[in-house]
Amino acid sequence: MQRHPFAPAAESPLLPDDFAFSQSSLQAYADCPRRFWLTYVERLPWPAVEASPVQDHELLMRQGGQYHRLVQRAELGLDPDELAQELPAPLDGWFDAYRAYRPTDLAGARVEVECSLSIHLEIEQRANAAPAPVRLSAKYDLIAATQDGRFIIMDWKTGHRRADPVHLQRRLQSVVYPFVLVEAAPYLGWGPIAPEQVEMRYWFTAAPTQPAVFPYGSFQHAANRQRIADLVAAILAGHARDDFPLAPDSEATRRRLCRFCTYRSRCNRGIEAGDLSDLDDAGDIEDLIPEGTARSLDFGMDEIAELNF
Ligand code: SF4
Repeated sequence: MQRHPFAPAAESPLLPDDFAFSQSSLQAYADCPRRFWLTYVERLPWPAVEASPVQDHELLMRQGGQYHRLVQRAELGLDPDELAQELPAPLDGWFDAYRAYRPTDLAGARVEVECSLSIHLEIEQRANAAPAPVRLSAKYDLIAATQDGRFIIMDWKTGHRRADPVHLQRRLQSVVYPFVLVEAAPYLGWGPIAPEQVEMRYWFTAAPTQPAVFPYGSFQHAANRQRIADLVAAILAGHARDDFPLAPDSEATRRRLCRFCTYRSRCNRGIEAGDLSDLDDAGDIEDLIPEGTARSLDFGMDEIAELNF
């Protein structure tokens, strides 16, 4: 594959030289600027107790990692019968569902499994200031180039319930993943991809026959570019902790965000962790954890090839 030189890092005195924005960091900022500050600027230790009971939380993380590794191996061509041998619950049921309900339009598709793409963006800042070069990265469970010219981004979700499609569509994952794929495509073996060829698809172990499917297009691509640029510009404009305020305090914010946030004691936003059974309303558990740590219990990131464009 043709490779583009590494994009320069974000021009921010707050962020590491090699910092790359991602759906996870942008979602953190969109949800709560202070959460971005604590996670990516102060880089406070992670993971920590985010949901109760703690053991269930850790088990769900571990099972999610194991499931992704299983599917990765199956997609890479390992014998599914061998992979299915002696799987404990619930992995056995999840893997059976994958085998029975893997989308039929993936048959014959060329797939890229567990890959990362990274692109270079120029972000307009203040008047008379030069655009800031930044990197934006996305880690994909699977990208399938189908025989009829479509590019399907598959994301495997292992939450207790099928996530609300409206909620999923609003999340930065649904913005960043198709955007990065289209922008990186000219440097990939596939060649340029029109936004209309792309589809974002979430597949749920809890509802394997009801994936959430989001077609993509040029209008959406332009809107996504603007949304990403606005978020990055706002982050780059911050120079101190006070520029990254706490999310407005309300019952809804505490229930939706703070109860699952490891920083809530620092913010005086309550003591008790949220109940795990409520977590699916906020998305898959991985969405609440900075990238690079979500599967660290069982899924080494060195298993993931990164392509930089
Ligand atoms: S506890 Fe709430 S206010 Fe504090 S960082 Fe987390 S989400 Fe933001």
